[in-house]
Amino acid sequence: MIFLQGIQKSYWNILLVQIVLILFECSILTQGCDDVELVTRERWDAREPKSTESMATPVPHLFIHHTAMGACNDFESCKQMMQIIQNFHMDDRGWEDIGYNFLIGGDGRVYEGRGWNRVGAHTRGYNRDGIAFCLMGNYVSKAPSELMLNTTKKMVKCAENENYVMSDYQLHGHRDASCTECPGSELYAIIETWPHFKKGPLPKYMCG
Ligand SMILES: [Zn+2]
Repeated sequence: MIFLQGIQKSYWNILLVQIVLILFECSILTQGCDDVELVTRERWDAREPKSTESMATPVPHLFIHHTAMGACNDFESCKQMMQIIQNFHMDDRGWEDIGYNFLIGGDGRVYEGRGWNRVGAHTRGYNRDGIAFCLMGNYVSKAPSELMLNTTKKMVKCAENENYVMSDYQLHGHRDASCTECPGSELYAIIETWPHFKKGPLPKYMCG
């Protein structure tokens, strides 16, 4: 009898382990948003936008950019870089706020730009139906680190899981919509292999 109880106990233990494994697999399938460290505007000391315009989601397009500016590798330098980019966009370009929806730092953190539901200034012709992720740094002749690429992929997953993009959305580089070298040839060659990638020129392609 004691022997049988032992068997029953180990049976339940195995079942419990299986349930835990299933739950773990489910969380892997839905992970993305919770899996990245998001640095809110407040945390990087963002300036208030001059104005905002809300954007309905899901959107059909996801764009990848690079800043073509300096890289950053820790919170302090990335925070400083965010302020430089925001000042450049607001003061020199005359935009309402930092252009991109989210930026990815060399430290592997995600820095909040305009967020998921605000019209950005990143890809002419597609600002109202596209979300832009921008990798900080210049990727014309070198690829971003695995850390940055993994963070970007997690953000793409998050956009899919949370329905910020349509189920049949298209992923592009900035150059697919404009005559720019953005996001740099090295980064572009990588995103070309990602699911949902759609090469340009897009219907609203603009030059100059
Ligand atoms: Zn760009």
